[in-house]
Amino acid sequence: MGILESKPSLYAYTLNELKSLLSPSFRAKQVYHWLYHRYENNIALMDNISKAMQEHLQSHFIISQITPVQIEKSSDGSKKYLFQTKDGHTFESVLIQMKSKELDESGEIVKGEKWTMCLSSQIGCKVGCAFCFTAKGGFVRNLNAGEIVEQVVMMKRDSNIAPNKRVNIVYMGMGEPLHNLANVSQAIKILAELDGLSISARRQTISTSGIAPKIKELGELNLGVQLAISLHAVSDELRSKLMPINKAYNIAEVLNEVRAFPVDSRKRVMFEYLMIKGVNDDIKAAKKLLALLNGIKAKVNLILFNPHEGSEFERPLMEDVRAFADFLVKKGLLCTIRESKGIDISAACGQLREKIKRENGEITQKSKKAKV
Ligand code: SAH
Ligand code: SF4
Repeated sequence: MGILESKPSLYAYTLNELKSLLSPSFRAKQVYHWLYHRYENNIALMDNISKAMQEHLQSHFIISQITPVQIEKSSDGSKKYLFQTKDGHTFESVLIQMKSKELDESGEIVKGEKWTMCLSSQIGCKVGCAFCFTAKGGFVRNLNAGEIVEQVVMMKRDSNIAPNKRVNIVYMGMGEPLHNLANVSQAIKILAELDGLSISARRQTISTSGIAPKIKELGELNLGVQLAISLHAVSDELRSKLMPINKAYNIAEVLNEVRAFPVDSRKRVMFEYLMIKGVNDDIKAAKKLLALLNGIKAKVNLILFNPHEGSEFERPLMEDVRAFADFLVKKGLLCTIRESKGIDISAACGQLREKIKRENGEITQKSKKAKV
């Protein structure tokens, strides 16, 4: 074990794994209850667990591996968390309020709020997309499964979200989840545990820049997870400029893997299309997109480019985004425009982390230049 490496976190285990590690095995369910129903992160406070077992747990495991160092609240109810790891790196997660609570005249809740949690899978990213803020800081390391699961627990605890309250998970924070498939798939299973947070895999969406062989591997795992592809361009020429990964796995290769991917019969594969002014936002592109997705059970999510310091791209005009969406919808393709939740808290990919680095004077010249 290295100096910085410590004992494994209890958040890194499925229930069966924990059962095989603890004897008697019913202790595993009790621990799970403390971790995910009580949000307890101090073994000494798990008071229905014997002293001997508490000592055993303490000598073999830890619980918490990340600490929130900054929380920004948006006026729309969304919150952005900046977490610090034990080895001193920062990454972020966003709690997005999709719908707010509705009360009747007597103050009773008629409809609960709806939450989506946007998780990070890596610190930084290797893919290097030209429009992405995360890419500019380079790649540091993968998050481990416990660090991924703990993002959810932390946000639920901090925002008083009940353990049994349904939330959706999207792996759309920092990092390329398919470059860290082992830890991400483990986290998906842990989050889905019925005795834990019970967030079924079909409520979890992996967003990928299109690592074709890993899409295949993910499909073979048969987790029941939802898939989102960051497409962003309809020609290989433009896509390779925006997303260098396209030189390794081009549009056709990615779409072939998508066609083979096991999709829940009630669901569709999401294609994210980042609209950038004057780059990919005309009707010609919409027509090409329609042709590309022919035969795939797809839905399109249009994302408006979120400008950041040093980027040479611009936000598209709303009328162009609407025309693009209208065209697709008229042709029968499901298409939504992503609402910019938490826009006042710099909620796009990697931006809170960069802001804080800048305030600390850490930002470098190299990281200010966009690549296209
Ligand atoms: N690496 C994965 C998941 C994380 S990025 C992926 O690329 O899919 C999540 C989404 O945020 C991607 O669709 C990405 O293209 C988008 N994104 C990155 N930078 C953005 C920006 N400046 N404005 C809006 N969306 C951005
Ligand atoms: Fe990585 Fe996704 Fe950002 Fe591309 S958009 S650099 S794949 S995090």
